[in-house]
Amino acid sequence: MTAVATLELHPGKERSLLRRHPWIYAGAVARVTGRPAPGDLVRVVGGDQRFLAWAAFSPASSIRARAWSFVETEMPDDAWLQAHIAAAVARRAALVTRTDARRLVFGEADGLPGLIVDQYADQLVVQLMAAGVDARREAIADALTAATGIDRIYERSDAASRQREGLPSREGTLRGAPPAGPVVIREDGVTYQVDVLRGHKTGFYIDQRDNRRLLAGLAAGRRVLNCFCYTGGFSLAALRGGAAEAWSIDSSADALEVARAQQSLNHIESPAHWIQADVFDALKQLASERRQFDLIVLDPPKFAPSVQHLDRATRAYKQLSLAALRLLAPGGRLLTFSCSGAVSVDLFQKVVAGAVIDARVDAQMLARLAAGEDHPVSMTHPEGEYLKGLMLGRL
Ligand code: SAH
Repeated sequence: MTAVATLELHPGKERSLLRRHPWIYAGAVARVTGRPAPGDLVRVVGGDQRFLAWAAFSPASSIRARAWSFVETEMPDDAWLQAHIAAAVARRAALVTRTDARRLVFGEADGLPGLIVDQYADQLVVQLMAAGVDARREAIADALTAATGIDRIYERSDAASRQREGLPSREGTLRGAPPAGPVVIREDGVTYQVDVLRGHKTGFYIDQRDNRRLLAGLAAGRRVLNCFCYTGGFSLAALRGGAAEAWSIDSSADALEVARAQQSLNHIESPAHWIQADVFDALKQLASERRQFDLIVLDPPKFAPSVQHLDRATRAYKQLSLAALRLLAPGGRLLTFSCSGAVSVDLFQKVVAGAVIDARVDAQMLARLAAGEDHPVSMTHPEGEYLKGLMLGRL
């Protein structure tokens, strides 16, 4: 790392780096001195040549570089990488009492831009979402094994954001033996099977852990409706919590098959209805049957992949919350979520308030919900916050 290239910013464009926001947009760059390859470390300086950050260069992306360190004496070499990965892993140590499925590294929020690492028992799954971490995948794999003692690492760098970085999607074994089948994990007393090869994200919605526990704690004797249930995470938590019955809806037959298998795996015998349907249609059907539920979960897919989709997305979020409120018994609770980064907490609250007004019910906000603490949000990179939810209580 002797001949590090320099990336010089236009005058005035150093402000966000001085506030430790890690993204350097292409328009801020005045000149690149040297010939950095994609993912190479560059020294970022202001128009006055003052040091601002060490960053990873990404020539294909509109985020032209992502800052790894804001301290000149802390150059992010392999020893730095190892120390930062070990620290991120150590911050999640307390979660082992609840689960063996944890997000160990969450990109920008952990000071490792573009790096996602999830642990499922003795299997790690890695997503390299930016040129900088892609270029250092071997060092990252070494550091992960050193920090966790786990030598089975699978790569799922299939995310759309790779395209924006000019990177091909890549999946396969990075270290150790490939996963032979689903990985069995245990969270708050429930056993789940995680398909790290084909499952959503890296296989499981780890981010909803605290909200599953919240639901489980409310579920005893209640009628539960879980919309967009995927492999049944919320449903199984509610059933484990003693729900009288759980109705779960998803359009994917494969996901429902896993959900059913997980119910048997957990020896849960309470009535569970796994319904393959479009949620929008199913909610109408349930309303026509005059059904009522005490607890309803709405955790749909990301309706707004970007701000261009905001209008349509907010209409869909509102429509769902409205339909759910109509099925909610007095005294019941609605847990409604959005995982669209483009929908802010404030906007989501407004949208759900609109649904309450249209439903002509009285409702209280009982809690704001978010991802668990292994999905932190950097105070200087609020864009990292994506999962938001509200728990409403119907009066
Ligand atoms: N709540 C889940 C994650 C939801 S992922 C969990 O905690 O594990 C979104 C799910 O919605 C996927 O399983 C997908 O199959 C399903 N889905 C997407 N659009 C749908 C629709 N219109 N009707 C029913 N299911 C849908």
